[in-house]
Amino acid sequence: MGSLPIETFQPLDPDVLVKESRAVVDFIANYYRDIERYPVRSQIEPGYLSKRLSDQAPIFPQPIQTILDDIHDDIFPGLTHWQSPNFYAYFQANASTAGFLGEMLCSGLNVVGFNWIASPAATELESIVMDWMGKMLKLPSSFLFSGGQGGGGVLHGSTCEAVVCTLAAARDSALSKMGGDGITKLVVYASDQTHSTVQKASKLIGIPPSNFRAIPTSAASDYALTPDSVRSSMEADIAKGLVPLYLCATIGTTAVGAVDPLLELGKVANEYGVWYHIDAAYAGSSGICPEFRHYFDGVELADSFSLNPHKWFLTNMDCCCLWVKSPSSLVDALCSNPEYLRNKASDAKTVVDYKDWQIALSRRFRAMKLWVVIRRYGMANLMEHIRSDVAMAEHFERLVAMDRRFEVVVPRKFALVCFRLKPRFQGDDASELNRRLLEAVNSSGQAFMTHAVVAGMFVVRFAIGATLTEMRHVEATWKLIQAKADGLLLNGSCDKISSSNGLFSL
Ligand code: PLP
Repeated sequence: MGSLPIETFQPLDPDVLVKESRAVVDFIANYYRDIERYPVRSQIEPGYLSKRLSDQAPIFPQPIQTILDDIHDDIFPGLTHWQSPNFYAYFQANASTAGFLGEMLCSGLNVVGFNWIASPAATELESIVMDWMGKMLKLPSSFLFSGGQGGGGVLHGSTCEAVVCTLAAARDSALSKMGGDGITKLVVYASDQTHSTVQKASKLIGIPPSNFRAIPTSAASDYALTPDSVRSSMEADIAKGLVPLYLCATIGTTAVGAVDPLLELGKVANEYGVWYHIDAAYAGSSGICPEFRHYFDGVELADSFSLNPHKWFLTNMDCCCLWVKSPSSLVDALCSNPEYLRNKASDAKTVVDYKDWQIALSRRFRAMKLWVVIRRYGMANLMEHIRSDVAMAEHFERLVAMDRRFEVVVPRKFALVCFRLKPRFQGDDASELNRRLLEAVNSSGQAFMTHAVVAGMFVVRFAIGATLTEMRHVEATWKLIQAKADGLLLNGSCDKISSSNGLFSL
């Protein structure tokens, strides 16, 4: 259906932009006002949308209001509401007004700063913001442009891209010494808690899958990678004629929020001459608060370091900061110089051309977004944001500890609490019990949590960090969890308990 005559087609008319973007902003603001009315985890069945939407693209234009109505009626039921205050799943992707405004500016200006001349301000702002971030995190000056030692930072869309690029840099610098055939000998090291992106990236850059080492961790080290295990793994590989290439350590692992000992691992990495990357995708943002900075000790030994402001730094998707000590190795691996992109500044090598620090040619003006977030909130509020989430997590952890049926499984470091219902008797299938508890909470629509399996244990992950979460949400969700546990333990069914905790009810 549509009505506008074809002659009025002006896809970038400023008056229409004002009018329609106001309608969209109002729509989004109402979404946030009403967000607690929606089930946090979408409750629909696969394939629901094709039953609701036309299978043909429209020939004639449709009014924005009709589109917004359809989003409300057809798309919303299929959304899992990541910005709900009762979203505790995965790691958060926390939105903010400044993040949204920055994203609007990025999208509104829509420049494509692949090299400096394509939009000098896009490149220069990115370098400035990366130095700002680096200084906020107290990264060593060797990672900063202003450090004068050749280092610097770049914005990617995801940690996955950052890891692929650093692995490609490590691979090419190793192969330049060994010759291209050496690729079958290169080995990548991580832990069994390292994000799956590292294994995927190793495969992508041509490392044989059998040369990826997911070194086991255990409760004894709080699921952190131990330097001795890395050393023995490298020694065993060297004895087989293989060549250690890359070690990834993590600050805040995905499953349980573990922190690898950066300094000790860095010493091993440096001794064996491997590229040392630190993935702080989730917990890296905490480094702006002095009380968390000790987890970063040893970062000075790394070759590269990355974190995602789109996780815990109030920066709307997508945004990943990557710093490298030696950008020239990135450029060696990723640079392309087609004639149609040649220009005086690039030829003179007086500028940064970020196309050579990433996979794609085209790139978004993400620096605008991060810059707006940092300026609009200032370090003081950003620190407060991290601290209040951690305070809520501490409170939740206390609530869990006070209920003797439950236990906190892994010592908490940030705003992630991993807990479970304890087995009730010998031989009790605690994993099944907790799986059912999790499903009962999630299918209620009142909160959404996810799980992890560590040391064979099924644990529930309670990741606090959605921007709208307050202590009252955490307390109400804990009551919901307890009520579902009552149902499960007393009757064997979570459904027999009616929730009267004031949260959304289906
Ligand atoms: N590393 C860690 C520790 C993570 O927790 C995640 C995602 O949760 C990733 C990497 C992947 O991040 P991205 O989706 O930006 O690639």
